[in-house]
Amino acid sequence: MFEFDETHRAVADGLRKYCDRVVEPLVPAMESGEVSAFDVMREFSTAFGLEQMIADARPGASEKTGADAESSADPAKAARSPLGNPQLAAVFAKELARVSPGLCLCVTASMGCGTTIATRGNRELVERLAVPVMALRKVGCWGLTEPDGGSDAFAMRTTVRVEGDEVVLDGAKTFISNAPAADVFIIYARLAEPGAPVDRSRDKHRIFPVVVERGTPGLETGPPMEKLGMHASPTGAIFLDGVRVPRSHLLGDPERPERAAAEQTLASERAAIVAMCLGVIERCLDDSVAFAMDRVQFGKPIAAFQLIQQKLARMALAYENVSNLVFKLIWMQETGRGSEREVSAAKWYATEAACEVALEAVQLMGGAGYMREHAPERMFRDMKLWTIGGGTSEIQQLTIAKELLREHGFSVDLSGGYRDER
Ligand SMILES: Cc1cc2nc3c(=O)[nH]c(=O)nc-3n(C[C@H](O)[C@H](O)[C@H](O)COP(=O)(O)OP(=O)(O)OC[C@H]3O[C@@H](n4cnc5c(N)ncnc54)[C@H](O)[C@@H]3O)c2cc1C
Repeated sequence: MFEFDETHRAVADGLRKYCDRVVEPLVPAMESGEVSAFDVMREFSTAFGLEQMIADARPGASEKTGADAESSADPAKAARSPLGNPQLAAVFAKELARVSPGLCLCVTASMGCGTTIATRGNRELVERLAVPVMALRKVGCWGLTEPDGGSDAFAMRTTVRVEGDEVVLDGAKTFISNAPAADVFIIYARLAEPGAPVDRSRDKHRIFPVVVERGTPGLETGPPMEKLGMHASPTGAIFLDGVRVPRSHLLGDPERPERAAAEQTLASERAAIVAMCLGVIERCLDDSVAFAMDRVQFGKPIAAFQLIQQKLARMALAYENVSNLVFKLIWMQETGRGSEREVSAAKWYATEAACEVALEAVQLMGGAGYMREHAPERMFRDMKLWTIGGGTSEIQQLTIAKELLREHGFSVDLSGGYRDER
C-alpha cells in the first residue's frame, strides 16, 4: 500500500481545497496572534463535521437509532477520535501541516488529550470531556515533560497520590503545547507521595495520566513562551499545587503498575509527526518547482540550471522516502505489527529530512526564500521543533541502537547502563 485508499484520497482532496481557500489566507494572522488558531480549529471542526464523525464511529451507529443505540453502546468504550483511523490521521496531519504546522500542532495536541480520555476514561469523562475535545470544541493538551526531565521524562517529579475518593497532584510541567489556552489537561504523574525520591526501576512503571480541568484550584498555567517557530501554537508551563480531582480522573488502576498510556500517546504523536513532515516536504517541493520555473537569472529560468535541478531532485527523494514511511506506519498501526525501533527510525529520518528540505527550499529561492512571504522560511522554523519534541533525534538513535543490540543479547538503556547477556 503506497497511497491512500479512494475514501481517504477524497478526504485529502476536500481538505486541500478547504486549507488553500480558508486556512492559508489566515496564516499570517495566526502567526502574529491576531487570529487564534483555536478559532480556526473550531471552524475547521464544523466544516468537516468532526462531531458527526465521532458519532458515526461508535459501534452500531449506522444500524441503530434513538434509545436503542443509546442503551446498547457504552460511550466509554465506543467514543473514538475521528483521527483514530491511521489513514485519516495521516491525511489530516499532512494536509494541515502543508499550510500551517502550527495549526496542525494545536489539533494533534488536543486529539492526544481527547483520545487518552476516550480510551481510558469512564462514561461521564468521555461524554463531558473527551467528545468535545476530540470534536475540537474544547482545547486539550497533554503534559509529560518537566523542568527537570525531558528526554528522561519517566523519571518525573510530578506526583499523584490517592486520598479516599480523590487523587492529589503536585509538581510542574513545561513546554506543553496548547497549555496556555487549554480547557482540559492530561497530566502524566508518578504514583508516589510528594517529594518521594525517584526510584527509576520501580517508578518507570507507575506513570499515570490524570485528567484536570481548567478552574480546578491549585492548577495554574504560564503565559505563552516566546519561541523560534510554531508561532500559531502556544506553548507553556503548568503548575500543580495540591490539585484535587475525583478518583475516576486517574486513568488506570494504581494496583496495576504501568506506563502504557504515555507510551501510546508518544507512539501516535510520532506517527502524526511523520505525516506532518510529508506535508511540509510536499509544500516546499511544490513551491520550489514553481519558483524555479518563474525566476529568471542569466537570461534563463533558474530551473534550467543543473545545481537547481539537483536541489529539486534531493527534495523529491526525501518526499519518496518519507511517503513510504508514512504508509509503513499506517500499516503498522492497522496490523499491530512493527517495532519501536521502526517508529523511531521513521521519526528521526522524517524530521531531519523535513528540516533539510525546508532549508534547501529557502536556499533555492535566494533572498526571496529568506522572506516571510514564502512558506519555506516559516516551515524551516516550525519543523525544527520535530527534531526535538516527541523525543529528540538523539533519543531516537539511542532507541534504535537499544533494540538492535538487544537482538544480539546486549542490553543497554538510555542512561548508558549495559548488560552483556550473550
Ligand atoms: C514547542 C514545543 C512543544 C512541546 N510540546 C510538548 C507537549 O505538548 N507535551 C510534552 O509533554 N512535551 C512537549 N514538549 C517537550 C519536548 O518533548 C522536550 O523538549 C523533548 O523531549 C526534549 O526534552 P528537553 O527539552 O528536556 O531536552 P533534554 O532532555 O534536556 O536534552 C538536551 C539535549 O541532550 C540530549 N540528550 C539527552 N539525553 C541524552 C542521552 N542519553 N544521550 C545523548 N544525548 C542526550 C538531547 O537529545 C538534547 O540534545 C514540547 C517542546 C517544545 C520545544
